[in-house]
Amino acid sequence: MTDDSSEFLVRTPAPGQLPSPSVTQPPEPYDVLIVGAGPSGSLAGYAAAHAGARTLVVDRSEFPRYKTCGGGLIGSTLAALPDDVEVPVQQEITRASFTLAGGRHFERSGGGRILSLVNRADFDTALLHAAKSAGAQIRTGVTVTAVAEADDLVTVTTTQGALRARAVVGADGSAGRVGRHVGVRLRQTDLGLEAEVAPDAAAREAWRGRVHLDWGPTPGSYAWVFPKRDVLTAGVIMAKGHPAETRRYLADFLSQQGLSHLETVRASGHLTRCRTGDSPLGRGRVLVAGDASGLLEPWTREGISYAVRSGRIAGVCAARLAQGQLTPSEAVASYTEAVGAQLGREMAAGERALRAFERHPRAFHTMLRTAAGWRVFTEITRGDTTLAQVLRHRSARIGLAALNRW
Ligand SMILES: Cc1cc2nc3c(=O)[nH]c(=O)nc-3n(C[C@H](O)[C@H](O)[C@H](O)COP(=O)(O)OP(=O)(O)OC[C@H]3O[C@@H](n4cnc5c(N)ncnc54)[C@H](O)[C@@H]3O)c2cc1C
Repeated sequence: MTDDSSEFLVRTPAPGQLPSPSVTQPPEPYDVLIVGAGPSGSLAGYAAAHAGARTLVVDRSEFPRYKTCGGGLIGSTLAALPDDVEVPVQQEITRASFTLAGGRHFERSGGGRILSLVNRADFDTALLHAAKSAGAQIRTGVTVTAVAEADDLVTVTTTQGALRARAVVGADGSAGRVGRHVGVRLRQTDLGLEAEVAPDAAAREAWRGRVHLDWGPTPGSYAWVFPKRDVLTAGVIMAKGHPAETRRYLADFLSQQGLSHLETVRASGHLTRCRTGDSPLGRGRVLVAGDASGLLEPWTREGISYAVRSGRIAGVCAARLAQGQLTPSEAVASYTEAVGAQLGREMAAGERALRAFERHPRAFHTMLRTAAGWRVFTEITRGDTTLAQVLRHRSARIGLAALNRW
């Protein structure tokens, strides 16, 4: 194997695909090795390469690859992306409709775009291309099976041989291996199920620019329809451990939304996980970002903004560690501090909202009917504010505390 990134240009990839050279013998140590090329891994690769680190991003899949996800980008996600990333938006959303456990429907709009919807395969490939353009090497079809540290180096065992680096970022998602090495602790795991259905002409028209949210039958559960260019993504999320109930909720939801008769072009599921407030974000020369670290909005289970923001910070800290500007403990401490200041506060606010929502979904549903409730909802989705900032207001704090006591 050579370390030369020009090697990636040897094979001619299919249109839109990233090439995947084989890894056959141990390279010289990389500065930064990133495991996983989802949003957190690509942003870590982008940031580390920008900081001048010799960076390699590996992923077990070939790209473009499918990812079970609604593909909803809130304003905080868009704001955290590098300027040179062209986001492949499929639908700009300006309207939202709501039901409570499949009951009466109401719709709200006003104030412009509230969400941008992407196909994750396209979006993730665009981010990976940005990392590559920043100077990161990319190797796909490489599955990491073990991580070990010795003599100021991390050795990562892969299905294509061993790789060594001065710093590693684990961005390998909610079922990843690197989180286990770091000792990530979780307090909430949910199961998300999705069906991608092919809209007919009537459905295409009815869903243009609109998403739907249903507050579900079990505590903390909810469902969505997110329209893309060629498919409607219908999904549900519910606490892990109730697979039959989760499947039934998706089937009922499709029927309530008049989508049961449409062809399901893909059905899939994936776990989402939230870390405990004191879960480690690094160990030695290894940092974890995005889903691998359990960074996720506990109420909505929105995770892309957490992935891109934590990935970017992890990439910078890993580069500074590899370049000798930080010791391993300083790198972990500085990453933990930055993540805590930005994302820890947001997760704590989401956790309080989830507790209230689990007990009183009707209160949330009713609030969205009001002008003030809709304004807060759209300000959050647009990224003009965050739930944590909203909860700094005395009236919001008192309202949520009352719901949590009630
Ligand atoms: C049903 C559902 C709907 C969702 N909808 C939304 C939404 O609309 N908006 C939103 O913001 N969030 C949503 N999320 C959450 C969002 O999908 C995740 O938070 C986000 O993908 C996290 O990005 P990531 O880069 O950390 O991990 P991932 O996107 O999971 O990427 C991890 C990468 O690591 C690779 N990998 C895994 N293991 C290995 C290994 N051993 N070796 C090498 N590579 C490996 C994988 O192939 C993958 O490419 C949803 C989640 C679910 C389950």
